[in-house]
Amino acid sequence: MAADLDMNEIHWLMDMFNTVDVGLVVLDRDYRVCVWNGFMENHSGLLPSAVKHKDLFDLFPAIDEKWFRSKSESVFVLKNRSFTIWEQQPYIFRFKNYRPITGKAEYMYQNATFIPLTNIRAEVSHICIILYDVTDIAVNKKELEDLNARLEQVSQTDSLTQLYNRGHWESTLKQEFLRTKRNGGSSALLMFDIDRFKVVNDEYGHTCGDEALRHLSKLLKTTLRETDIAGRYGGEEFVVTLLDTDEKGAEIFAERLRVLIEQSPVMYKQLEVKVTVSIGFACFSNEFKDHERWIEAADKAMYQSKKNGRNKVTAYTDIKNDA
Ligand code: GH3
Ligand code: MG
Ligand code: MG
Repeated sequence: MAADLDMNEIHWLMDMFNTVDVGLVVLDRDYRVCVWNGFMENHSGLLPSAVKHKDLFDLFPAIDEKWFRSKSESVFVLKNRSFTIWEQQPYIFRFKNYRPITGKAEYMYQNATFIPLTNIRAEVSHICIILYDVTDIAVNKKELEDLNARLEQVSQTDSLTQLYNRGHWESTLKQEFLRTKRNGGSSALLMFDIDRFKVVNDEYGHTCGDEALRHLSKLLKTTLRETDIAGRYGGEEFVVTLLDTDEKGAEIFAERLRVLIEQSPVMYKQLEVKVTVSIGFACFSNEFKDHERWIEAADKAMYQSKKNGRNKVTAYTDIKNDA
């Protein structure tokens, strides 16, 4: 009777071992496979008979052998458990992901626990690897991260022009101000405003005005270098921080931008609508108490361009003593 029960129990254990939704693998001291459960069979397509007594690294050449050995050795030698998580190593066994909900992941993300298995002399002769499918968790976390990155981008971007919005642009200027104050160097701040923009709106409608803003932003982007930071400061006011740019460089940039805008009319319903801008710029100066003073200086220069008849460029250095 007792023997019957034992046989039953072994049978049940085998059933459970093969049905449980985690991978179970036993390896000997030479990394040969001794035990391989149903989960491993289903996901690898390899029967236990096909892997038994085979070298794990021959069976799965994609496994990072050095990393895997170092994880396992501490289990053999120190008799401690060891863990791996998907964030460090997405998977140990490269299994295709078939889950319908998380179909976006190409491979199964895995966590694993390595446990020591002792023989009757209390030596660790084998280790067992318990493999968990954590694809759902990994995909959710990645989606959340992507979403957060997108949200951050949206919160920094002006939706009409896709330039930085005022808040974000100003925070980058503040950083640049502090950096230049500390380390020296020269950067220029350029500000421009569309001339007689009310007339564009009045004559062609607000949609045309919006199109002009988009068009201008695109033109602006074509003139920028990698390190320049452009933003929409207000309705039809734009700002650009030109890093490592001196007075002369800023003047050249501003003049080129002014001419480009003047010569590139907005196309709206088969109409060519001419737009010009008034530009002012101010190079960094230690006289500025904070970044707001820097903005004020560029704004004053821009105002001077308006006063001088619009479609002009003015440097702050040329007006600061005229006040
Ligand atoms: P100037 O700057 O040369 O002195 O004249 P202006 O006509 O451009 O004068 P002002 O700067 O005062 O007017 C700005 C106008 O820009 C008023 C507003 O209707 C328009 N505007 C601001 N934001 C937008 C926008 O997002 N879309 C459109 N279509 N118009 C805008
Ligand atoms: Mg204007
Ligand atoms: Mg304005």
